[in-house]
Amino acid sequence: MSDSEKISVYADWNPWHGCTKISPGCKYCYVYRQDEMYGSTVSSSICKKNQSFDLPVRRKRDGSYKIPSGKIVFTCFTSDFLLEDADKWRADCWKMIKERSDCLFYFFTKRIHRLADCLPADWGNGYDNVLIGCTVENQDRADYRLPIFRSLPIKHKSIIVSPLIEHVDISKYLDATIEEVSVGGESGVEARPCNYDWILDLRRQCVEKDIPFRFHQTGAYFIKDGKTYRVKRGYQLVQAKKAGIDYKIGEYFIPETVKCEDNLTISLPISIG
Ligand code: SF4
Repeated sequence: MSDSEKISVYADWNPWHGCTKISPGCKYCYVYRQDEMYGSTVSSSICKKNQSFDLPVRRKRDGSYKIPSGKIVFTCFTSDFLLEDADKWRADCWKMIKERSDCLFYFFTKRIHRLADCLPADWGNGYDNVLIGCTVENQDRADYRLPIFRSLPIKHKSIIVSPLIEHVDISKYLDATIEEVSVGGESGVEARPCNYDWILDLRRQCVEKDIPFRFHQTGAYFIKDGKTYRVKRGYQLVQAKKAGIDYKIGEYFIPETVKCEDNLTISLPISIG
C-alpha cells in the first residue's frame, strides 16, 4: 500500500472541543498544550460544540458523503467523547455513527465509568462500527478503569496505556476481547519520563496473553538503560517504531498508521483521550 493510500484510510471528526482534567494523565493534556500554542483565548476546559459537528453525515453536491465509505474516523480527539459537558450532544452523535455503519468510529476515553449511562437505547452488545479505547496512565487508574471496561458490552476494545508515568501491570485485565494494547510516553516540555523497562514489561504481559501490542510513542523524556534521553517531538513516534517491538500489529483492523501534521504516514499518535 502506498503512503497516499494509507492516508486515505483515515478521517478526523471532532464534534466538540475542550475538556475537563480528570486524572493524573491529564496533567499536561495535549489539547491544552495545543490551544496554548495556537494562542487560544478560550479556556481549554470549556467544551464547545464545533461547526463540524455533523461532519459524518454531510454530503457533497453529488449526494455522496463527504467522509467516504470505509474510513476509520478518529472521533473526539480534542476532548473526551464521554465528557459530562457534552451529554446534550452525544445522542445526535450516536445517530450519525449508526447511519454511517460503513465507517469505523474510534474514540479514546478516560471516562469509561460513564459509558453505560451514555449509550444509545439500541446499543445492545455494541455497534459493530465502534472501537473504544480505555486510557490508563498508572496502576491506580488501571485498577479502577479496566474492571469497568471489561464488564461493558463493546464489540471492539483497545487499551491505551498513555501517558505511561509509572510501571503498570494490566495482565489480569487482558483477555481475548482486547484487540490491541497501545503504549506511549508523555510528550510536551514538562513531560514526565517514561522508562523503556515499563514498556517492555507491558509488551511481555501482552505477548503472554497473545494480545497485539503497539509501542506508539517514546515521550519527551525517555529512560533506557538508566540514561534519560530528551526526544524531540518529531522523533517520538519514529523512535518508538524503530524499537521494533510491536507484536501482531496489523492483524486486525486497528489502524496501523495515521496522517500527521506534516502529512507523513506514521504510527498512531496517541497522546490524548
Ligand atoms: S482530553 Fe483527555 S487528557 Fe485532556 S483533559 Fe480530557 S480526558 Fe484529560
